[in-house]
Amino acid sequence: MIKTISYLGLGTMGSGMASNLLKAGYKLTVWNRNAEKCEPFARKGAGVADTPADAVRDVDLVMYSLSSDQAVEEVVFGVEGILSGIKEGQIAIDMSTVLPATSLREQEAYAKRGADFLDAPVFGSKNESADAKLWIMAAGNKAIFEKVKPVLSNLGQTVHYFGENGNAAAMKLVGNLIVALELEALAEGLVLAQKAGLDLKTVMEVVKVADFRSPLLVSNGDNILKRDFSTSFALKLMLKDAGFIEKFGNSLESPIPGLRVAQKNLKSAVALGFGNENASALIKALEKEAGIEVKALNR
Ligand code: NAP
Repeated sequence: MIKTISYLGLGTMGSGMASNLLKAGYKLTVWNRNAEKCEPFARKGAGVADTPADAVRDVDLVMYSLSSDQAVEEVVFGVEGILSGIKEGQIAIDMSTVLPATSLREQEAYAKRGADFLDAPVFGSKNESADAKLWIMAAGNKAIFEKVKPVLSNLGQTVHYFGENGNAAAMKLVGNLIVALELEALAEGLVLAQKAGLDLKTVMEVVKVADFRSPLLVSNGDNILKRDFSTSFALKLMLKDAGFIEKFGNSLESPIPGLRVAQKNLKSAVALGFGNENASALIKALEKEAGIEVKALNR
């Protein structure tokens, strides 16, 4: 049974998950590149490690949610990285969105140390992470999955097993392809509605009930109308994921024409300086092209 856990990467997603591990009663150690983010956890009783290698000493399980493959490179493979501290019998779980090839590289490296590894990326954003309502996918050795499933169940509302390592990372990219196209569709739709002179509040009322409704369209649409682009999922991370999807799609010769359109607008919106805003700020690229700003009439 898992009792001691280290959580590395206390960003938007990791901080919610680490809080929920503490609430669930696990003995927790945290590490973050910017050490200030560890302080609230230390106040709640978590241990704070100086390095990723230190963080994994004497724990049953190490989990991490890092922004990119580059961050995984440093935190896992780097000097004083997890691999330099992990020992036989320990388990590592990467909850970041990374290329499936990165997950496979991680699995091989952990196996050389006698440690087990699962890729377990998530759907849901800031609120779902804080509320333990994530949708989690996991891949790797089935017995290890069964061992850590109770831990993952403290973080999410669903946990799906995907078989071999790399498959959960692949599913995450499949899902984010759909997310990117939903955001693109929402942005194009709202810009067109505004150009057509429709009352955007009524437009959103229809988006909420019609047969194409989705929670993602509703929350992002409502926030766009309020001009609230505060970050749950950063635009720059969506652009990073679009690059992964492109690479992954190309490697399998799977057509992704829609992704390329969304990617172009994501790039433009980042170039306009909105990379740290929410991914819904993708609309700002289209607004610039259209020469309008989407907003509810009676704001
Ligand atoms: P975030 O708020 O930007 O946090 C990123 C974390 O990675 C921080 O702890 C950051 O440390 C760390 N980091 C970045 N570069 C690093 C490096 N070179 N070395 C060490 N640590 C580094 O990102 P997030 O939104 O939590 O996302 C985390 C992961 O989950 C990403 O892979 C993202 O694609 C994925 N994801 C996000 C969402 C979402 O809605 N936000 C949803 C599903 C999946 P510092 O604090 O020191 O910068």
